[in-house]
Order: sequence, then structure tokens, then C-alpha cells
Amino acid sequence: MAALFKARRALGLCLGGCRSFTQLAELPDTHQLLRQTCRDFADKELTPIASKLDREHLFPTKQVQELGAMGVMAMEVPEELGGAGMDYLAYSLAMEEISRGCASTGCVVSVNNSLYIGPILKNGTEEQMKEWITPFTTGEKVGCFALSEPGNGSDAGAASTTARQEGDEWVLNGTKAWITNSWDASATVVFATTDKKLKHKGISAFLVPMPHPGLSLGKKEDKLGIRATSTANIILEDCRIPLGNMLGPRGAGFKIAMQTLDSGRIGIAAQALGIAQASLDCAADYALKRTAFGAPIGKMQAVQFKLADMNMAVESARLLTWKAALLRDSKKPFIKVHNPF
Ligand SMILES: Cc1cc2nc3c(=O)[nH]c(=O)nc-3n(C[C@H](O)[C@H](O)[C@H](O)COP(=O)(O)OP(=O)(O)OC[C@H]3O[C@@H](n4cnc5c(N)ncnc54)[C@H](O)[C@@H]3O)c2cc1C
Repeated sequence: MAALFKARRALGLCLGGCRSFTQLAELPDTHQLLRQTCRDFADKELTPIASKLDREHLFPTKQVQELGAMGVMAMEVPEELGGAGMDYLAYSLAMEEISRGCASTGCVVSVNNSLYIGPILKNGTEEQMKEWITPFTTGEKVGCFALSEPGNGSDAGAASTTARQEGDEWVLNGTKAWITNSWDASATVVFATTDKKLKHKGISAFLVPMPHPGLSLGKKEDKLGIRATSTANIILEDCRIPLGNMLGPRGAGFKIAMQTLDSGRIGIAAQALGIAQASLDCAADYALKRTAFGAPIGKMQAVQFKLADMNMAVESARLLTWKAALLRDSKKPFIKVHNPF
């Protein structure tokens, strides 16, 4: 189980083997192997404890480290940086299977891969990648992404967190809201404005280690679900970081955030898909076991219709998610409304 890399090499298969959605009669062997490995892991390591983790707000430390050893915490990161060197279709498959076993663990995997590592991999310098990605590939450390604020979530361009330059440092001030992984993270990508007059074009991205002087955490939100992940405010009060911790060019933060979320939504779709598949499996199992009027309720047509509709919705969502992943892997547009950048 721990040897996805080795298995991949042993199979000697090309990961880019299924670039076209129309050619996707079935998944390539590498992807099938990954899917099965993640499915087995979810059945054995996640499903039995998911309810306890959720009820008791327990971060899945051991499981995340095992997923790190499997390569799942850094799916798209090249092997030389410590990642699995796989594609977004593979990431979607892993996300679905893990989230089927435990939606919280899926969330941790998603935030580390898409929201934390994603923007650094796309915009970081070589040194930044070595420092801020490689230690986050193993599952020993996880990262987070701090864009939303108490006053602006959807309207991310209205960020009020500021970054001012003082000598050879940036000084960050403001509050970021709802930040997933915050209590368990060792670093965060923070979005802050260096020039409010420029509105969203004044926003830049910064890399901040955690814990760090001037950075504190709010209380953990008591959510309705996905409760094994921590979600809290990140409060920045004269939080000083070196000038070199800016990610990408000055003023490119909003663009970086929007591009990150575009890709991240594929992982979130796969997470929702895993949760939906688990619900369907549970409903189908119940329909076979529960008897009424002398037969399992699954023998009744009204129940069969419901299960058939659920199955159709899940399968359709899966194909749509794979399509988005394959388009991204082929470097084709994968969002409906084109990003203005
Ligand atoms: C569990 C959880 C985890 C999160 N994790 C993170 C994280 O890790 N990092 C991070 O940065 N943020 C995170 N968020 C924040 C999340 O991105 C925001 O909640 C989201 O962007 C919505 O912002 P808001 O809550 O301020 O809602 P608002 O922006 O106030 O929206 C309120 C309602 O108005 C609607 N609305 C807003 N604008 C429009 C519009 N233009 N047209 C039509 N309807 C509109 C919205 O759909 C919504 O129904 C998390 C949130 C939750 C709940």
C-alpha cells in the first residue's frame, strides 16, 4: 500500500496515457491501481474510524502520514520535489475514494494538494518550492490557504488584510476567516493587499510559517460536518515575514487565488462524489437488509426508482468531474466562465 511510486514504476506506464475524455473507455492501469489502493486504504483505515473522528473533532494524524507515504498528499508535485508526479485525474480518483471513507480526511488531502501546494507549485521560485512544498509532501506537515475574511468571502477581491513593507520585511495585519486545517497547519498562503487603492490588483500572496510571532488562531468552529478538520480564524497582528516570502509578483495575489480555486473545485467535486457514493452504498445496503411485508424493501419498485436515480446522479457527477480533470491535464479550459486573467 505504501508503494504507489514503486508500483507505478514497476508497471512502467505513462501517466499521461488517457488525455482524451472520448478515449476513456476505461481508466489506464496506473489509475486503476491508484483507485484500488485508495479504496482499500479507505475501507481498512478510514471507514471504521470516520464517525469517531468526526464526533470528537480528531485530526487524522496517522492516516494523513500514511497517505503521505502513498504519495497522496502531493499528487501533482514532481518526484524530485518529493511528490507523486501524477495528474489531476489521479488526484480526483484518490480524493473520491478517500472521501468515501472519511470526508474530513478528504478535506485535509484536498486543502494540502490544491489550496496550499497548488499555488506554490504554479507560482513559486525553485527555492520556495524546496522550502515550502517538499516538507509538505510526506503528511508530516500540512498547509492551509487564507483568503476569506469575516467581511468578505465570495467578494475575495475586497480583502482588507494589509501587507506593508518595512525594511527587508513584510508586516501583515488583518483577520482571515474559516481557514481549513488552521490548527494543524505548519504554513499558510495568505492573501493581503499592498495597495488598497488598486482594489483586487493590489492583492499579493505571501508564505507564512505556522506557528509564527504575530499569528494567532481563533476558536475552532463547531461545524455540522467534516469536523475532524479544524476551521478557524487566522489573526495577523504585526506579523513579520521576510520580503522573499511573497509568492508570485506583487499584485498577482487575486489572480493566484482565483486560479487556485478553479483547480481546487475539481478536488472538492471529487470529495462530494465520494460522500455521495458512500451514501448510495449505505442506502443500497439498507434496502437489501431491511425487510417489510415479507421481503427486503429493495424489492419494491418505489425504492428501486430512488436508488436508480441516486446511481444515475452519482455516475453523471463522476463523469463530469473526470472530464474537468482531463481537460485540466490536457491544459485545456476547464471552467465554464472564463477567468478574466
Ligand atoms: C467549512 C468551511 C471551510 C472553509 N475553508 C476556507 C479556507 O480554507 N480558506 C478560505 O480562504 N476560506 C474558507 N472558507 C470560506 C469560504 O470560502 C466562504 O465561506 C465562501 O467564499 C463564502 O463567503 P461568505 O461565507 O462570506 O458568504 P457571502 O459571500 O457573504 O455569501 C452569502 C450568500 O450570498 C451569496 N452570494 C454572494 N455573492 C453573490 C453573488 N455575486 N451572486 C449571487 N449570490 C451571491 C452566496 O452564494 C451565499 O449564499 C470556508 C468556509 C467554510 C464554511
